[in-house]
Amino acid sequence: MRISDILRVKGDQVVTVRPEVSIERLLAVLAEHGIGAAVVSRDGSVVDGIVSERDVVRALAARGAAVLTEPVSAIATAQVRTVEPEAQLEDVERLMTERRFRHVPVVVDGVLRGVVSIGDVVKNRIGELEDERSNLAGYITGERV
Ligand code: AMP
Repeated sequence: MRISDILRVKGDQVVTVRPEVSIERLLAVLAEHGIGAAVVSRDGSVVDGIVSERDVVRALAARGAAVLTEPVSAIATAQVRTVEPEAQLEDVERLMTERRFRHVPVVVDGVLRGVVSIGDVVKNRIGELEDERSNLAGYITGERV
């Protein structure tokens, strides 16, 4: 399965925040959309960074509540790993596991086209494994499933 197959179902909406937005505002955005990370972008299209709840937790633990008024750019990750829609789901799964992050923006020619989260990966992998299991069961029992 390719990443484009996932985006076709889940859509291409990506929640972005500008770098100067406060961390307090970021938390409101994450809560409002029920998501764990936002892409940092000045124009809503080019990826300037990514910021996740984990970055906020880390900053709060290190510097206390004063960080809430700091800009998102103070805690965001600037070197973002992105993938193209043609990427295979398994490769993104491996990337997330090896690099220990749960979000990967999808980019075409430098333009943001979607985001895949670990939740999307798990959901689709379970679907794939379920299909495989039922095909194998059909093969063994001789029944068409
Ligand atoms: P996450 O597991 O996605 O909440 O993120 C864990 C850490 O990795 C945080 O410091 C994020 O800013 C960073 N991060 C998340 N996604 C990416 C990505 N695609 N490329 C680089 N860093 C990322």
